[in-house]
Amino acid sequence: MSALLQVTDAHIAYGKVEAVRSVSLEVGDNEIVTIVGANGAGKTTLLNAVMGILPLKGRVRFAGADLARLEIEDRVAAGLSLVPEHRELFSTMNVEDNLQLGAFRIAKATAAKSFERVYTLFPRLKERRKQLAGTLSGGEQQMLAMGRALMGAPRLLMLDEPSLGLAPIIVADIFRTIAELRASGVSVLLVEQNAQAALQIADRAYVMELGEFVLDGPAKDIAANARVVASYLGFQ
Ligand code: ATP
Repeated sequence: MSALLQVTDAHIAYGKVEAVRSVSLEVGDNEIVTIVGANGAGKTTLLNAVMGILPLKGRVRFAGADLARLEIEDRVAAGLSLVPEHRELFSTMNVEDNLQLGAFRIAKATAAKSFERVYTLFPRLKERRKQLAGTLSGGEQQMLAMGRALMGAPRLLMLDEPSLGLAPIIVADIFRTIAELRASGVSVLLVEQNAQAALQIADRAYVMELGEFVLDGPAKDIAANARVVASYLGFQ
């Protein structure tokens, strides 16, 4: 069976500077796959290119289709969704309206179901549905960014540094929700500097250094790898 997402030999450049080189990756149905690596390794660049925000040389297939010619909104319609590193919420709009924006291309009845699903996953958002996004706590804002991405009922959710700037107890909450998503049939591609937390919930992992993957395998093997422990897990 072919993978849900299949990236083959990807190269991504900013002008003449190649930020990602010869990267190949797969995410299967019902899988949590994580990419761990230091600041500047190229993780965000890779997610943005898969979403269609940046041009990519190489091949990206999703759910059996070639994404090369698809614009961002068509990739969303195909079932791909990205929660960006800086969340990019509309801070002067309330929770409900931010979520509504994630549903702008779907039918009313489907949107109603999506609201129900997001509010079940994040009861906190339901309680605060009339509150302005800019006044939410960091953890609630991350929940809202994830909720918005889930409104279109994606098959694959890409998360860029969901734990960034959050207290450990909130991080645990967010990661528990990611595991719940997989149980509900959503695959996850997770980029994290918090390698410890990411490797605990992931099925498989890729380690990225200076634009290339240097290691990949089952998450529990990667978590036990001496090089990974020394570089990414030593101080956590
Ligand atoms: P971080 O966790 O800091 O986001 P990352 O692994 O996601 O790190 P990227 O942000 O993808 O790394 O950056 C990869 C490389 O591309 C870095 O060398 C970075 O300086 C460079 N880069 C990122 N964005 C741009 C840009 N807009 N223009 C030029 N170079 C960029």
